[in-house]
Amino acid sequence: MSGTKTYRDIFNLKGRKAIVTGGSRGIGKGLAEALAAHGADVAIVVKSSMDRAETLVDELKVSGVDSFAIKADVADEDDVKRMVQTVVDRWGRIDILVNNAGIVLPANAEDCTLDSWRQTMAVNLDGVFLTSQAVGRQMIKQKSGSIINIGSMSGRIVNWPFRHAAYNVSKAGVHMLTKCLATEWAEHGIRVNAIAPGYIMTELTDEVLKEHPTVVSEHWAKGAVQNRIGTVEELAGVTIYLASGASSFTTGEIVTVDGGLTLR
Ligand code: NAP
Repeated sequence: MSGTKTYRDIFNLKGRKAIVTGGSRGIGKGLAEALAAHGADVAIVVKSSMDRAETLVDELKVSGVDSFAIKADVADEDDVKRMVQTVVDRWGRIDILVNNAGIVLPANAEDCTLDSWRQTMAVNLDGVFLTSQAVGRQMIKQKSGSIINIGSMSGRIVNWPFRHAAYNVSKAGVHMLTKCLATEWAEHGIRVNAIAPGYIMTELTDEVLKEHPTVVSEHWAKGAVQNRIGTVEELAGVTIYLASGASSFTTGEIVTVDGGLTLR
């Protein structure tokens, strides 16, 4: 690589075709906006909130990219296949997949029902597998693509005092699946990486805050060496890096973005 122009363009995503699951709100919405801001066309996948997804689609289109919303449950194989086919029919290819859809169902281990355990695994782990597999088949044909999985610091540590073993295990699985897919698909020109966020203020965390209003000051911020929780915008830079040619020699990596929470 030589010349300043080449370096200036390494984050350019103009014309790239992206899918963001769980893209109607929170982290997924922010990452969809970031990808579009760098020129990518973005398909927004949601389970239920189509109204919100359509509003985002309109906003993204105003910024000059193509965008559309698709209703699909990432835990349902037929839904995922249909969703991926819809994107390929429209754009002919998929360059970027952000596996962001996820749920957390807090429960003490001794009380967690098998249904609750399986529901968590179905969305957080099966969903990443099924969507990566369906998109991966297309990327293998193209001989290129970047998959970004949203894992969690909870895949690395037990973020005490919160009790959601199923969530932690599902996210640890996402991290290992990231490494497996990166290894298997490198020969096809596909890179697979994960982001492991710390506490990020979204509607998901709002729900916890309603029940435990002091949780930020007592636990979440206190645990991080930066003494605060993060914003959705603070995950945008690493996402653009992993989606773009800037990270062409990076694969199988789990990038932690947690204000230093897992340091001590
Ligand atoms: P959120 O506000 O609850 O948003 C979750 C999104 O996932 C929603 O758009 C939802 O769509 C979608 N979704 C849920 N189940 C789905 C399914 N079965 N199929 C398709 N879409 C589904 O969550 P968030 O805080 O932005 O979190 C996003 C991701 O980051 C999750 O994987 C989460 O585990 C991870 N994460 C979050 C934090 C944090 O502090 N916020 C920290 C670490 C990791 P509908 O609205 O249509 O249901």
